[in-house]
Amino acid sequence: MKKTAVFPGSFDPLTLGHTDIINRAIPLFDEIIIAIGTNSSKKYMFALSQRRKFIEKTYANEPKIVVDTYQGLTIDYCKKVGSQYILRGLRNPADFEFEKAIAQTNRKMSEIETVFLLTSADTSYISSSIVRDILINKGDVSMLVPEIVARG
Ligand code: ADP
Repeated sequence: MKKTAVFPGSFDPLTLGHTDIINRAIPLFDEIIIAIGTNSSKKYMFALSQRRKFIEKTYANEPKIVVDTYQGLTIDYCKKVGSQYILRGLRNPADFEFEKAIAQTNRKMSEIETVFLLTSADTSYISSSIVRDILINKGDVSMLVPEIVARG
């Protein structure tokens, strides 16, 4: 059976932390759907179309990567697209505590397994929120994001 994972997130914007997890997960799955969650009550810095474009351009030459958007529960989206796995990255104990509760709840509500990859040592400090802070203050984010994002 084709192994498909959903990598859900805000990707506001895509960072080298995200691409580290995605690149390391590519050999593990037949297909990875990068699913940009949309929540009408959340304020984003980048429009959905822009967040999507950054990911599509970064992975234009990777046939295993599909980019999509969704609303609602991640497990419902997984069922809709026939994915058995949710992929998440872990940076620190705070991520672990948060992700543990969500993964266990999802497991209670469905058969879907969450697969965690531990952040690489050289990208563990990167987060979209720090990237946004630097951008607001007109700083240089080229060390933290893929080239296409740095170029805007
Ligand atoms: P969310 O709002 O769902 O946390 P994000 O776009 O912030 O969306 O993150 C999506 C996923 O990428 C999460 O699993 C997060 O832990 C992971 N991630 C983000 N930055 C890093 C990083 N530097 N190293 C490892 N995983 C990361």
